[in-house]
Amino acid sequence: MNTFEKDGQYIAHTYARFPLQIVSGKGSLLTDADGKEYIDLGTGIAVNTFGTADGEWIDAVTDQLKKFSHTSNLFYSSPCADLAEELCRRTGMKKVFFSNSGAEANECAIKAARGYAAQKWGKDRYTIITLNNSFHGRTITTLAATGQEIFHKDFNPLTPGFISVPANDIEAVKNAVLEHNAIAVMFETVQGEGGVLPLEESFVKGLAQLREETGILLIADEVQTGNGRTGRLYGYMNFGVIPDIVTTAKGLGGGLPIGATLLGDAVENVYQPGSHGSTFGGNPVACAGALNIINRIDDNLLSDVRKKSQYIFESLTDASGVKSVSGLGLMIGIEPVGDVKQILAKCREKGVIALSAKNKVRLLPPLNIPMNLLEQAVGVLKDVFAECAKGE
Ligand SMILES: *Cc1c(COP(=O)(O)O)cnc(C)c1O
Repeated sequence: MNTFEKDGQYIAHTYARFPLQIVSGKGSLLTDADGKEYIDLGTGIAVNTFGTADGEWIDAVTDQLKKFSHTSNLFYSSPCADLAEELCRRTGMKKVFFSNSGAEANECAIKAARGYAAQKWGKDRYTIITLNNSFHGRTITTLAATGQEIFHKDFNPLTPGFISVPANDIEAVKNAVLEHNAIAVMFETVQGEGGVLPLEESFVKGLAQLREETGILLIADEVQTGNGRTGRLYGYMNFGVIPDIVTTAKGLGGGLPIGATLLGDAVENVYQPGSHGSTFGGNPVACAGALNIINRIDDNLLSDVRKKSQYIFESLTDASGVKSVSGLGLMIGIEPVGDVKQILAKCREKGVIALSAKNKVRLLPPLNIPMNLLEQAVGVLKDVFAECAKGE
């Protein structure tokens, strides 16, 4: 059996994979099993922050791999302490809990909010308000937080204590907070899986105002928007509001699994020994790689991300076959006239890998994609958007 057949036979059918097997890559280029090369505008869903097989990241990871790869959290080790220090220094958050995925980072945030509320208001207050069209993960609790019924189907009953309301409707959030005696609002600053939709700044500021009035917590799910993706280190930094809890994963590891939950002033001491944990959390190899990634997301890189973003917006807004362009930084959604699936297939034919999100073509290129490759890829996208709009 070849890999396609084996996968079909032995892997649970949870993914609608592209008919493509990646065998190697370098930077913003990927190579498939037939030796065909692609410009990568997907980065494994915003994971490979500096592209594939990035030299500096490989050095950081292999240096650590040669020392020790796992100790368990029964011991102290420097990579996770150094990474936590850097994350706190760059965000003003006070403590970090490390896990291995976005869903786990969100589970930790939800537990922290519940722990905080139980200590402050007693056990009867626990509801968290989330937004319609959000995505927070696939576990039974993060599914409950996810405001999209389609993901809930067949998996009920989910964890109680989540109510979702329309995004950008501060009155709806306020009413839900008061009606349900809520403890927190959880949101993505740019809804990724929901179609690359940034929140309105006035709405995010409204959430901060609501926090002032009611004492609720703000939880920013930065699993996809984090780590430079939006042109700031974290997405919330575009909105002038500081959350109480920030979760991240995907791009933090630069290609290895890691999740982080950043706890601000209000919740920094909610967790005590025994109240939360993860065997692999804070894995030294993953943390050494992540520290390299975070250290390279500096003002120069971020300013470059914003410039490349502007280039993509200017090139594709009003282009033939394009209805609209949305997003922030190098997290961009394009609503095409043509069919998204067909567009992605044609792009692959022409050597460009892009992703989808709902009715959008989604671009998540490496943050350091060279300008010439970006221009080449945008040229292909323009051709394909125009071509597919004619129904060819
Ligand atoms: C991908 C994603 C998650 C889930 O992350 P996993 O690592 O797949 O568990 C959660 N929230 C957001 C916003 C995401 O984009």
